[in-house]
Amino acid sequence: MKNKPFLLAANWKMNPLTIKEAERIARSLEQGIGGMKKKDFNQKIELVVCPPAVFLGCFLQGKYYKLGIQNIHWESRGAYTGETATRMAEDLGCKYVILGHSERRKYFGETDQIINLKLRGTLKGSLQPIVCVGETKDERDKNQTTKVIKSQLERIFDKVSILALPRITIAYEPVWAISTMEGANGADNPDDVMGIIILIRKVITEMFRSDVTERVRIIYGGSVNAKNVDNFLNLDILDGFLVGGASISTFDFLPIIRKVYESRQI
Ligand code: PEP
Repeated sequence: MKNKPFLLAANWKMNPLTIKEAERIARSLEQGIGGMKKKDFNQKIELVVCPPAVFLGCFLQGKYYKLGIQNIHWESRGAYTGETATRMAEDLGCKYVILGHSERRKYFGETDQIINLKLRGTLKGSLQPIVCVGETKDERDKNQTTKVIKSQLERIFDKVSILALPRITIAYEPVWAISTMEGANGADNPDDVMGIIILIRKVITEMFRSDVTERVRIIYGGSVNAKNVDNFLNLDILDGFLVGGASISTFDFLPIIRKVYESRQI
């Protein structure tokens, strides 16, 4: 997807614990990027910060970042205690939503069918979904990665309109590579990532039988950090990163942003 800016989505998960700290991180992110004096920043990078939903209301849209929400409910409104509707996220200035993160699958029982409902619900509004797919360690060890990714995509994209595709990003997030805290070594091997990105594009192209699938962004997530980011930036076919742990500290995140910026030609 070469004509869109590189997507850098920051998933803060359930961090930090106070509004004050969240605002401090957002401010220092803005200052850090401002200090790079890169006038073409927004042409090269689309930065999306996804803080905890309760903090969204106190975040103003940044000069260098857009806002995203980490999860939404599929219904547009009603008796769904504890949930957030798409329209609420839009009203708070969100432009993106993360759907089907593996932590939602693992701890909250989200299935491909639920993610499909959420995707179709989101597409009735204006948010741009980042849909996560990826295999577990056990599935990888049993050589089931291809089968698992294919079946996730087929279920999640069931009854999704072809017209919506250019709004959608698919994040390949091997479950075993997320939040590993293993420095440079926790992430997947770039060659394997490349193989899966090619597979994802092939599967959606077969499903929709259209060139429009070329406009779907495909990004990687799983322990991306300043030490390993260069390996992934060499992959021409990657359209962005979903960054968790390393995005909550500007000390860790700014070097990633700088490297992505420097690697992009416009
Ligand atoms: C994530 O939460 O989507 C993620 C990729 O996390 P981490 O970068 O910490 O592995």
